[in-house]
Amino acid sequence: MKNLIISLSILIMIISASYAQKEIADMVIINARVLTIDMDNPEVQAIAIKGEYIIAVGTTSEISSLIQKGTTKVIDAGGRFVIPGFNDAHVHFGPLDPDYIELRYTTDPSVITQKVKAQVARSQPDELIKGGHWEHEMFTDKKWPTKELIDKVSPNNPVMLSRADGHSVLVNSYVLKASGITKDTPDPFGGVIQKDPVTGEPTGIIKENAQKMIKTGETKRPRTSEEEKARLWNGYILALKEARSYGVTSVQIPGAADFEVYKKLKKDGELTCRIDIGRSLTADTLLLKNYLKLEKMYPKDDNWIRFGYLKGFMDGTIGSGTALMFEPFTDNPSTSGLALVPYQVMEKMILTADKLGFQIGVHAIGDKANNWVLNAYEKAVKENGKRDSRHRVEHAQTLQTSDIQRFSRLGVIPSMQPTHCISDKKFCEKRIGNERAKGAYAWKSLADAGAKLAFGTDYQVEPLNPMEGLYAAVTRKTGLAKPVLAGTLSRRSLWRMQ
Ligand SMILES: [Zn+2]
Repeated sequence: MKNLIISLSILIMIISASYAQKEIADMVIINARVLTIDMDNPEVQAIAIKGEYIIAVGTTSEISSLIQKGTTKVIDAGGRFVIPGFNDAHVHFGPLDPDYIELRYTTDPSVITQKVKAQVARSQPDELIKGGHWEHEMFTDKKWPTKELIDKVSPNNPVMLSRADGHSVLVNSYVLKASGITKDTPDPFGGVIQKDPVTGEPTGIIKENAQKMIKTGETKRPRTSEEEKARLWNGYILALKEARSYGVTSVQIPGAADFEVYKKLKKDGELTCRIDIGRSLTADTLLLKNYLKLEKMYPKDDNWIRFGYLKGFMDGTIGSGTALMFEPFTDNPSTSGLALVPYQVMEKMILTADKLGFQIGVHAIGDKANNWVLNAYEKAVKENGKRDSRHRVEHAQTLQTSDIQRFSRLGVIPSMQPTHCISDKKFCEKRIGNERAKGAYAWKSLADAGAKLAFGTDYQVEPLNPMEGLYAAVTRKTGLAKPVLAGTLSRRSLWRMQ
């Protein structure tokens, strides 16, 4: 009898526990193909969300039991794919220019006309209308756009629309006139003023060095500081919207950004993306102590706004011939790139910051730059002891084969941006030669060697869409926006790049 009572009370406890556990979800997604990224349970049909957390995954009928009519928002995915949000590990995230006309992925050129028309309606006469990222190879007719596309909707405004690669721009007749460019203007050195083969008139496409001839003749709209503030705020809202549209739900900003503005966005319920913000790598202990205070305010375990890593620079880029290499560049044997700081200075910064417990990420592109940064991280382990430091090398673009193993051995994260591979492929082999190119963009070799990789986009150098990077990572080919968006240094950022 006593045993029965005990069993019964245990049973009641179990029932009440499971009853208590059965929460009502705020939102459920059912009838989906949910990729969980959980090896033990890789694919489910449905998920339940309460507040900021996923509280259950399972079959549609299991998850449906967490629905309460009138309380739970139910999304029927109709068999579509659901994946976790993306973390962009290296992204120059910041406010966008609300007046910039975004033309990426445009396939119908008449959309350009419509968008310019709408922006002209919002602008004052003579105010510059700017936009870009169009790619005529994506147009249905694959033809270069011409000024006729925009002239009729912009008689009183200068218009400048950059191609995705930034190497050509479409301007309207207003700009051609202001620049004094006519059918008789010769091409400047290293530049092209595209002309109609029949009439000889400029088409509105201005390439490379000829862009320096452009004078917009614009009148800037005077704005009060309040208006500027509102514009900036709007720019943040736009950037968050863009991130959302690509499923980017957390970003890591290399270097500094404004913590306060994200705090305010969070407070206003506008923040839809988790943010890691860092500071510059330094050996200045006074500065580092200030950063420690900042890290206390925005701790690593915060769910939304966190102090990230300290960013340093070891070298430049392959494109500009400033990546620090062991051997001279193949196409320019007079140089092997440059170190932005001497090795000893980098080592001191890394040792000092590591000792205080910071995470560090150093930009390194050339094989020697990568080797040096790994050396300094190795020294830090020797001097300060091993810990879960998660130091990183930003880009890790060109590696000596012997350095590939060191990433996993030292626990250093190669923080790579796969679209760089397809953007750089035009010149990479020419610059560093076939042999060294084998150690370039070597994410598969790094992963095979046991390194834990972090992927990012390097937006706004490259597009924010993570699928382009994933496509590049797997295929090493250009993906959605063909041909590749090489060197797309967007001009629409309201802030300077780190
Ligand atoms: Zn970057």
